[in-house]
Amino acid sequence: MRVLVLNPGSSSLKSSVIDTAGESIDPLAALSLDWGVDATEGADPADDIRALLVRYEEAGVPAGSLAAVGYRVVHGGERFREPVLVTPAVVETVDELRPLAPLHNGVAVATMRAGLKAIPNLPHVAVFDTAFHSTLPEDAYRYAVPERWYAEWGVRRYGFHGISVAWSAERAAELLGRPRAELGLIVAHLGSGCSVTAVDGGRSVATSMGLTPLEGLVMGTRSGSIDPGILFYLRREGFLTEDELADQLDHDSGLVGLSGRTSDVRELLTAEAEGDARAALALAVFVSRAAECIAAAATSLRHLDALVFTAGIGENSAPIRARITARLGSLGLVPVGEDAVREDAVLSAPGTAPAVLRIEAREDLVVARAAARVIESTG
Ligand code: ADP
Repeated sequence: MRVLVLNPGSSSLKSSVIDTAGESIDPLAALSLDWGVDATEGADPADDIRALLVRYEEAGVPAGSLAAVGYRVVHGGERFREPVLVTPAVVETVDELRPLAPLHNGVAVATMRAGLKAIPNLPHVAVFDTAFHSTLPEDAYRYAVPERWYAEWGVRRYGFHGISVAWSAERAAELLGRPRAELGLIVAHLGSGCSVTAVDGGRSVATSMGLTPLEGLVMGTRSGSIDPGILFYLRREGFLTEDELADQLDHDSGLVGLSGRTSDVRELLTAEAEGDARAALALAVFVSRAAECIAAAATSLRHLDALVFTAGIGENSAPIRARITARLGSLGLVPVGEDAVREDAVLSAPGTAPAVLRIEAREDLVVARAAARVIESTG
């Protein structure tokens, strides 16, 4: 089944066409477009989707050959624990979850509306990043706050990047030649957003992101975990408004905030080599927080068989992998080398346990397969 996968981000829409019955896991074609849904006031985003279909046609994938459209949606709350057929009511419910992930769900809603309008003849399926974490035990998803915060206001850890983590867990089993059911894994998804998830027998048992994708590791522009007392202090003293706080924690913090220049790890490594102290500090904080979250995740596993690095930084930055693993000797990890690796691979020496793996994030594949399953099961 050929599935058009739409993975909307804040500034771009990544897309690909996957043949779920094909021999190869590679997409038939992949295209992305600038997706300033908020910026294009007045313009109809459905026109962008129609234009995308024309480009796929030119790339040898005619619209008529597509059987479904799949969407990556970040926040499914407690409502969506499985992939679902997209209906206008589903879009409304995702929209209602917007307060939990304003950036991400807003753009997902706009994309689903545009998709339904531009391609009305196909079934559409939404796949949720939070769903993989629906197996979290209660002691992993509850915060130690008054009961009412959870019971009435839904304050709990949800976790994100689940679609990526699900693929890493499946692929790790292949690379290690062992059944997923017996593996204890930690997946470090280090992209523009960063998270760590402990996966026991294919199930998420602990994860670093929380109610929102702001908790946990230091990210490109997001702070990750900070003392909540900082927020009260900055508000009480009148240094920042609530909107400024939200905006600066999301956009002006993380690697950008510490370095004062960029969220791009490549540029930071170059600047560090040239003697830029702030760039060096940004990388050091990033590495130390990542190692801390990985070590914390290990406490939720019965045994740690492998640490997986995935997403933009995890896949491509050998120096960062080397620095993080060098901090994890207490978990029995041996630091991996700094050589660039372009394919999915076991990076650690044969027989080393825990192993260290490099796996390309393939949200598109997971979304396409889930969409195919939903459509086949609903006939
Ligand atoms: P997202 O899908 O969340 O946008 P990605 O998984 O594509 O994120 O990762 C994007 C991040 O990966 C960016 O911060 C980018 O700077 C980083 N990145 C990409 N290639 C490299 C590289 N060779 N070395 C270090 N960082 C990289």
